[in-house]
Amino acid sequence: MLEIKDLKFRYSRKSPVVLDGVNLTLKKGEVGVVLGKNGSGKTTLFKNILGIEKPEAGTIRFEERDLSEVSSKERAKLIAYVPQDITMAELTVFDTVLMGRMPYFGFRSAKEDEEVVWKVLSDMGLSNLASRNADELSGGEKQKVVIARALAQEPGLMVFDEPTGNLDIANEQLILKEARRLSKEKNISILTSLHDLNQALEIGDRFFFMKDGKIKYSGGKDMVTAEVIKEIFNADVEIIEHDGRLIVMSGKSMKPSPRGEGGCEAAG
Ligand code: ADP
Repeated sequence: MLEIKDLKFRYSRKSPVVLDGVNLTLKKGEVGVVLGKNGSGKTTLFKNILGIEKPEAGTIRFEERDLSEVSSKERAKLIAYVPQDITMAELTVFDTVLMGRMPYFGFRSAKEDEEVVWKVLSDMGLSNLASRNADELSGGEKQKVVIARALAQEPGLMVFDEPTGNLDIANEQLILKEARRLSKEKNISILTSLHDLNQALEIGDRFFFMKDGKIKYSGGKDMVTAEVIKEIFNADVEIIEHDGRLIVMSGKSMKPSPRGEGGCEAAG
């Protein structure tokens, strides 16, 4: 379980407060989606969880351990990160995924590490790409390789920052489905930010709405209401049920907009 209590953070003593008492709980095997406008602090929250930034106050515990007392190597065994912008080194897909095993080996990988890599590649349907150069793959393939690298870490928690950012719709769906499958099959908790409220509803078990450096609302799907979206994003939406699924639609009074405010995506 991930348990964040009263987390406070600012980038420097003179800069404004970015996280102002964040509280968040995510159980094992659950997918949590953090939603909020651009600049509401989602990436900053993730950086604190990963130890890239240090909180001013508050605690982050994962699987009963206070993360401030865990070394970065140990932390890398617990938590894997799939960043927003993917840059691939000039390595093969196999070696890229093997990098995920680094917290487990010193200078040389062991046979067991390579076995883990082959297993992850096979699970992700990437075995046939193992010897290809990772920087020459398509956007969707790169995204899968980065997820595979995170999985090779055998983490208990995976943190995704806008995982569908640069993907086409087919790859968006693939990544979301894959992430949810992994969380359920391997009992991994996933915390992700997402731009698109419909994608959020598709993948999420828990929803965390961020505003003014706080989680203003959190809960299951029933927490995703037009009122909450209005307050958090200042966008008018309608939520309809279709085939047992909730769908967020732009409000009738809104001007048509393919993306962003007024569309079925909210700024964030
Ligand atoms: P989000 O991920 O929700 O878009 P961020 O966490 O990136 O939001 O940013 C939250 C706030 O922190 C913003 O006001 C942003 O300008 C500020 N911020 C982000 N990174 C830095 C940084 N490295 N130094 C100073 N301020 C930053």
